[in-house]
Amino acid sequence: MERIAIYGKGGIGKSTTVTNISAALAQKGLTVMQIGCDPKSDSTINLMGGKRIPTVLEVIREKGNETKLDDLVSIGSFGVLCVEAGGPKPGIGCAGRGIIAAFEKLEALKAEAFYQPDIILYDVLGDVVCGGFAMPIRNGYADKVCIVTSGERMSLYAADNIVSAVRSYGSRGYASLGGLILNKKGIVNEEGIVQNVADEIDTQVIFTIERDKLVQDAEAVNQTVIEKFPNSTQARAYRQLADKLFSGEK
Ligand code: ADP
Ligand code: SF4
Ligand code: MG
Repeated sequence: MERIAIYGKGGIGKSTTVTNISAALAQKGLTVMQIGCDPKSDSTINLMGGKRIPTVLEVIREKGNETKLDDLVSIGSFGVLCVEAGGPKPGIGCAGRGIIAAFEKLEALKAEAFYQPDIILYDVLGDVVCGGFAMPIRNGYADKVCIVTSGERMSLYAADNIVSAVRSYGSRGYASLGGLILNKKGIVNEEGIVQNVADEIDTQVIFTIERDKLVQDAEAVNQTVIEKFPNSTQARAYRQLADKLFSGEK
């Protein structure tokens, strides 16, 4: 079983990338669990035909100790096991604490033992890498952390922060850094800019995803590119990235 956390600035394309990776791997017959760790709680929406699933925090608030695993885990396209950690009410509470509570609940209900996923993908907001949002990096949750970025300064700034967080926990044997995934925004010399930053922070650009209108076209019908346009170049790219990330060990 492998656990990969995909971090990045809000709006950079994490959920788009992660859902397409999940769909690609699940289509190959692997059991994939995707856990959205973003208060936006829309990580899995394009695997669920546009339906928002109840978040772990909402279910805990409503059902408390009566919470069952299938209240938290919804089955999406290609059988992907979809979970949204959820977030606090705006202005009250702490999003990071919410992620910790959601992870603890999944663990208490033995989600991994029950579903036996081959891979767990965490889709994590990386604007603030506080204790809560660093949860997937800590305590043996993720084996590898990859960061989605474009050539925009703010997304590279977030990437730099995430790398620092991974390295500060890394000495304790937690997740290692997998590298950067460039999700292109169409900036002049974008590949050069991101490569320079990767060199500066001593990591690699492991994959480059082109900007493609098919992503929006698929999103308009609440689907991944893998599902809606399986023969497109963009779908092929997501499949390549999925194969690169998942080493195939069960
Ligand atoms: P995040 O999860 O990081 O907040 P999303 O995955 O929701 O970001 O993406 C934000 C927007 O960017 C979405 O509307 C999506 O359609 C668009 N997008 C992401 N990646 C691409 C791409 N490679 N080509 C075109 N549009 C993209
Ligand atoms: Fe919670 Fe992190 Fe926000 Fe602080 S920065 S309130 S710990 S989510
Ligand atoms: Mg998202």
